[in-house]
Amino acid sequence: FTVPTPENEPVRTYAPGTAERESLQKTLAELAGTQLDLDMNIAGQWRRGTGAEIEVVQPHKRSHVLGVTREATDSEVADAVAAAKAARRDWAAMAFVDRAAIFLRAAELISGPYRDRINGATMLGQSKTAAQAEIDSACELIDFLRFNVSFAEGIYRQQANSSKGIWNRTDHRPLDGFVLAITPFNFTAIAGNLPTAPAIMGNTVVWKPSTTQQFAANVIMQVLLEAGLPPGVINMVTGVGQAVSNVALLDSDLGGIHFTGSTPTFQHLWRTVGENIAGYRNYPRLVGETGGKDFIVAHPSADPQSLAVAMVRGAYEYQGQKCSALSRTYVPASLWKSGVRDAVVGMTEDISYGDVTDFSNFGGAVIDSRAYAKHTALFERLERDDKATVITGGSADDSVGYFVQPTLIESSDPTHELFSDEYFGPINGVYVYDDADFDQVVRQAADIAPYALTGALFANDRAAIARTSEELRFAAGNYYINDKPTGAVVGQQPFGGSRGSGTNDKAGSWQNLVRWVSPRSIKETF
Ligand code: GLU
Repeated sequence: FTVPTPENEPVRTYAPGTAERESLQKTLAELAGTQLDLDMNIAGQWRRGTGAEIEVVQPHKRSHVLGVTREATDSEVADAVAAAKAARRDWAAMAFVDRAAIFLRAAELISGPYRDRINGATMLGQSKTAAQAEIDSACELIDFLRFNVSFAEGIYRQQANSSKGIWNRTDHRPLDGFVLAITPFNFTAIAGNLPTAPAIMGNTVVWKPSTTQQFAANVIMQVLLEAGLPPGVINMVTGVGQAVSNVALLDSDLGGIHFTGSTPTFQHLWRTVGENIAGYRNYPRLVGETGGKDFIVAHPSADPQSLAVAMVRGAYEYQGQKCSALSRTYVPASLWKSGVRDAVVGMTEDISYGDVTDFSNFGGAVIDSRAYAKHTALFERLERDDKATVITGGSADDSVGYFVQPTLIESSDPTHELFSDEYFGPINGVYVYDDADFDQVVRQAADIAPYALTGALFANDRAAIARTSEELRFAAGNYYINDKPTGAVVGQQPFGGSRGSGTNDKAGSWQNLVRWVSPRSIKETF
């Protein structure tokens, strides 16, 4: 078998006056006008949770309820686990080409008939602009599906050597249990990737999306079922997750966890698994992508204009709510004073965050009241802090939606919390250094934060690029030379980091898929 060679899905621009913009706007109006029941799906059946109701609102227009979801109870999660176990044998035995066809068809459905719906749900539910939704819920999700099918084929082709009279085979079995996928609000593509990657390798899955992303998660589930996913292969439960911890996490058949979210939550999952380790039939595979404190280090030889643009786009696109978002920048005094500061401040003050259905806005709101409160608490702290100066931004307003202004803060203390703590919002801390101190600053940048997800170096001096890249070798799993640290593309920049940022099992690559198989070596003697 040979699956189609994947190519990255072309990005639509939704330029004014185009049919694609008109069509998306029509869908947005339809979606905003209905209040949906955002139900769970177990064994292919839509089911209304019987726990507490949770309203899903538009973050940029918080009085507008998009839909209502409900907390899954322990017994509903138990049903999802039972459905995953019941579907396992047939799914694991299904020929790879038949499994692959389902995910390739899902990619086609998103590329065509479902594109507006999934982008619209992501825009309204997660406060993404059309451009940010398009690169996430359309292109990246389509790419994950197509590329993962191709990577899976590559894994299945890996075989042991044989010799005269002996035929050795590698049987790439799925894990001997079900996979628990827990997904974040910030990328619809990740919500789609985390349950489907293990499923492509023949595993069955219990999937719990973030409640703040339930609107788009329901579209993903609908697409997968329409593409022909058999009942029970992916079971989606709703709610904040207590029942998942009570039931799925402790089940003796837990084969693995595929997680993206906060560092403390992943540590909680890992700890719970550790405490229960004798209760499992296998050692569960733990795969997680967690926090970040992503950086730009600029060398005096950097191009000032591209540095300034990267600082603005890296920190403020999608309101800084990418794990990869820039949140600390090290700039030499020579560049900062000769134009970079003014350029960054000028561009930042031109940014408009507002209703994402107004296509002229650069961004929307932060996801919810908790994210909002974290930022207002930071701004209050900064008012009493004589070691940090807010250059621009530093205010927030939740009268209509959870709006936090794009914020640039300078500090002369390289150990300030601005350079080590994750806020997950539009906050960029700047440390301006004397040009002569570059090497020392690089060493500080490499180790001050407990994370190692993304980072970028801006420089044109080749010797500095070589030396610095070596010094920063373990400071980022995704490292960019002369580009912003966001926007990894499936098949081009496999994504993930180490330290407090996760297990670095590279989303969008064979390295991730290989975690979802447990090979059997077969020796046959003739
Ligand atoms: N892959 C995304 C990027 O490179 C970030 C994913 C995340 O936020 O987890 O920007």
